[in-house]
Amino acid sequence: MKKVLITGAAGFLGSHLCDRFIKEGFYVIAMDNLITGDLKNISHLFPLEQFEFHHHDVSTFVHLEGNVDYILHFASPASPIDYLKIPIETLKVSSLGTLNLLGLAMQKKSRILVASTSEIYGDPLVHPQNEDYYGNVSSIGPRGVYDEAKRFMESLTMAYHRYHGLDTRIVRIFNTYGSRMRLNDGRVVPAFMGQALRGEDLTVFGDGSQTRSFCYIDDQVEGIYRLLMSDYTDPINIGNPHETTILEFAQEIIKLTGTDQKIIHKPLPQDDPLQRQPDISRAKEILSWEPKTNRAEGLKIVYDYFKSLSPEELQKKEHRDFSNKS
Ligand code: UDP
Repeated sequence: MKKVLITGAAGFLGSHLCDRFIKEGFYVIAMDNLITGDLKNISHLFPLEQFEFHHHDVSTFVHLEGNVDYILHFASPASPIDYLKIPIETLKVSSLGTLNLLGLAMQKKSRILVASTSEIYGDPLVHPQNEDYYGNVSSIGPRGVYDEAKRFMESLTMAYHRYHGLDTRIVRIFNTYGSRMRLNDGRVVPAFMGQALRGEDLTVFGDGSQTRSFCYIDDQVEGIYRLLMSDYTDPINIGNPHETTILEFAQEIIKLTGTDQKIIHKPLPQDDPLQRQPDISRAKEILSWEPKTNRAEGLKIVYDYFKSLSPEELQKKEHRDFSNKS
C-alpha cells in the first residue's frame, strides 16, 4: 500500500485530499496543528485502518517512522483575515514548514507536491494569468505574508529539485470553494452564504468590479491528483477560468439562496487584486484536465452543506480562537 503524508489535513483542501487518497487505496498520514483546521473535517476517517492523524506544527522539525511515497504540503492559513490575525504563522508554515518537508522528502526519497497559489501573481497586470507571468506582489502589504511565503516556497522547491534532484511538483491553486470551508473564515463564498443564511445584508467590498474565477473542490482535487501522478515539475495553474465580478457574484448568491437580502458596500481591503482568472492551457495540455462542474451546480451543493450546519455554528462570528497560538 502506497503511503501519502498530507499536511493541513484537517483544513478545507487537505481534508478533501485525504478522502481522495483513501478512495484511491493509499495509506494516509494526516498532519495538522489545528490552528485553522478542524478535526471534524476528517473525523469520519479516524476509524479506518489506513488512516492516522498527527497533531503537529510542520514549521518545527517533522519526524516520521517508515517509508513515505508522497508528500502533499497543504498546511497554511488561506483566508486574508487569517493572514492578518496570524501573519507570523502564515510566513513560517510556507517557509520553515516547506524546508522541513523538503528535508523529509530527501530522507524518505518521496515525491513532494507543494500547494502554491494564484496569490503569487499578486494584483496581476497580465490577464488571464499564465504560469510564465512573474506577478505583481507587495512584499510589505498585509497579504505579503502569504504571497511572499508561497513565492519562497516555490523557489525553495525548485532549488531542491535542481540542486538535489528531488522529485517535486508545484500546483498554483486559484479560488476554490466547497464543503468544509469555515463559514466565518472571511472568504467570499462562505461570507456571502453565511450572510444569506443569517438574513444579513451581503457585504461587497469596494464597488464589486474586482473579478475572481471560482473552482469547485472536486475539480481542484482531480487536477492536483493528476499533477502528482504526472512527471511535470514546473508550476501548473489549477482553477476554473469562468470569471465573474464580485458584484455579479453577490447577485448570483441572492438568486441561488432565494433570499431577498440587500447588497451593501464596504471598503476594499488593501492590495485586494482587481482581477484574477487562470489560464489553464498548460493543465489542459499536460494533465488533460479541465474543470467539469459549472458554478451554479457547485454553489448549490455548497449552499446545501452550509444549510445543514447547526444554528450555533451558523451564528459563530469567529470559528477559531487565535489567542492560543502554537
Ligand atoms: N469580498 C467581498 N465581501 C466579503 C468577502 C470578500 O466583497 O465579504 C471580496 C474580496 O474583496 C475579494 C473577493 O471577494 O475581492 C474574493 O475574496 P476572498 O477573500 O474570498 O479571496 P481572495 O481571492 O481575495 O484571496
